[in-house]
Amino acid sequence: MKIDVNEIIGPEANFTFTASASDFTFSPDELILKEEVKVFVYLRKIDKEIFLKGDIQTLIELRCSRCLESYEYPVNDHFEISLEPYSEYLTEEETELRKDELDFDLYKEDIIDLTELVREQILLAAPMIPLCHKECKGLCQQCGENLNHKKCSCTTEQIDPRWSKLKNLLNK
Ligand SMILES: [Zn+2]
Ligand SMILES: [Zn+2]
Repeated sequence: MKIDVNEIIGPEANFTFTASASDFTFSPDELILKEEVKVFVYLRKIDKEIFLKGDIQTLIELRCSRCLESYEYPVNDHFEISLEPYSEYLTEEETELRKDELDFDLYKEDIIDLTELVREQILLAAPMIPLCHKECKGLCQQCGENLNHKKCSCTTEQIDPRWSKLKNLLNK
């Protein structure tokens, strides 16, 4: 997923990329890519400055934070970023500061490599607290049964600790 800045002739350009799941590295507890990743890019170039808009389409597998089951989650993500070439006039520290800016990045040797950018966007597109569905009932705290599939026979009665003291007194 590389764009050679020198090959952009006009002030605007469109690119379509299809990258296979193996082009990206995710740790399995982050997510699993289930499909190839399609990226549609529209960019404007002003001198060496690039204003890029992109759309990412793919399918990922996540683990539900309540019931711990895997489920598939479609990613349709839009992102926008400005890119500038590395400048030899900037110190290393200044370069790092520039790179930390949101929606901004630097490119080197006239090549924009979108792989890391797209990887980060997919991570951002995944929900912080994954849920297989909104009403997921999760696991029983006592027996571990997945309550979406089956109702267990554990008692759900919760005793307020303040009352349990009183109960102990009464039992004496
Ligand atoms: Zn769930
Ligand atoms: Zn139970």
